[in-house]
Amino acid sequence: MAIEKTDTLVIGAGQAGVAMSEHLSKLDVPHIVLERSRIAERWRSERWDSLVCNGPAWHDRFPGLAFDADPDAFVAKEQVADYFEAYARKFNAPIRTGVEVKKVTRNLGRPGFTVETSAGVFEAARVVAATGPFQKPVIPAVAPRDDRLLQIHSAQYRNPAQLPAGAVLVVGAGSSGVQIADELRRAGRKVYLSVGAHDRPPRAYRGRDFCWWLGVLGEWDAAAMKPGTEHVTIAVSGARGGETIDFRRLAHEGITLVGMTKAFDSGVVSFQPDLAANIARGDANYLALLDAADAYIARNGLDLPQEPEARRMLPDPDCLSNPVLELDLAAAGVSSIIWATGFTQDYSWLQVNAFDDKGKPQHQRGVSSEPGVYFVGLPWLTRRGSTFIWGVWHDAKLIADHIATQRKYAAYRDAGQRAQAAAAVPAEV
Ligand SMILES: Cc1cc2nc3c(=O)[nH]c(=O)nc-3n(C[C@H](O)[C@H](O)[C@H](O)COP(=O)(O)OP(=O)(O)OC[C@H]3O[C@@H](n4cnc5c(N)ncnc54)[C@H](O)[C@@H]3O)c2cc1C
Repeated sequence: MAIEKTDTLVIGAGQAGVAMSEHLSKLDVPHIVLERSRIAERWRSERWDSLVCNGPAWHDRFPGLAFDADPDAFVAKEQVADYFEAYARKFNAPIRTGVEVKKVTRNLGRPGFTVETSAGVFEAARVVAATGPFQKPVIPAVAPRDDRLLQIHSAQYRNPAQLPAGAVLVVGAGSSGVQIADELRRAGRKVYLSVGAHDRPPRAYRGRDFCWWLGVLGEWDAAAMKPGTEHVTIAVSGARGGETIDFRRLAHEGITLVGMTKAFDSGVVSFQPDLAANIARGDANYLALLDAADAYIARNGLDLPQEPEARRMLPDPDCLSNPVLELDLAAAGVSSIIWATGFTQDYSWLQVNAFDDKGKPQHQRGVSSEPGVYFVGLPWLTRRGSTFIWGVWHDAKLIADHIATQRKYAAYRDAGQRAQAAAAVPAEV
């Protein structure tokens, strides 16, 4: 089979791959995007049915196209996928769907890479890995081996009807865990929610969404995680028009909050005695954002409505004052566990020198330690916003600029080469 050649091969056509293609197109860099499934597939088939964006439509988008929705609405996941398809059509992105990249290796003794795919072999001077920040579901080693329990990761959860009758333990209280727990409780399930360290910004404060606040306060642009926050998740939701994640409210509505899941032993799950500390940490994060917002309003003399009720906390629910430290799963009627415990990445197909000894991508702002290999869409690639829709677009621009600059060096010809090239061109008559 003939080998197809291009300058830059982008692997993956989620938001990161589409953004890459837009910037490469603007810079006239010949490229092809290979996507094993459909454009923005993860939004279609790897998220639960009722998921809506965590940020409002005016915010969670690329600069070049608005959602066909109220700017303050939280659009549904299918609409997000449709948006990226429409976006790709807008500039005729050279995306080939249904093509899986199996192996990328550096060419020996000549530049570029050989890329083996389900649709033949490609050669490219550069490759951009845009295969996602959240690729492989992680289920911690404490998960019990117990055939009586249905255990799934949040990436496999679709809706309450998918689970057998009975109570559910949801492990992990980031945005996925809290939204799934709330949906199950609303569907009439008894729910236990295992809560770790989290941030929980107010959905909105003094008339502005938290996405706006994090933007004007410079938090989306933070270049690195604050030390000690590596295991802190963020609990936000756009469900039902958007609401603040308030763990006390969830508990008063019927969810039993528990601390971090510690171990399973003979059908009994134990929890760390850290629930109160985790809730207090989340409260402190919530109040700190209100303080920062108030200070910003005062400093800039903004006319935004006062909202003193935002500082009122509900009384502590019983599960917070007297935390459950052990639960006999059968006695509590728990038939399912949902692990909302995050994701990792899988680059086994990318067989180049771009990883550290733990297998993590080694890069500076997406430019990897293997010349010609780039990453886009990874957490904290350049800033806190890097995995999000609006952030990845800016990161893709930086990488496309780097590629265009490298092409300029590669195209340079010295005086002798220029003379030779001129002599080879037949003179015009
Ligand atoms: C539950 C959830 C909710 C989220 N909500 C929001 C939100 O509201 N707002 C927001 O800004 N962000 C949100 N995010 C974060 C982020 O926007 C998404 O994770 C987004 O899918 C990341 O886009 P991506 O293009 O980087 O990666 P992905 O969407 O993962 O795209 C990677 C693509 O690469 C393809 N691929 C992988 N391997 C190969 C291969 N070997 N060959 C060919 N193709 C391959 C995959 O099929 C996939 O289509 C959310 C994330 C999750 C998990």
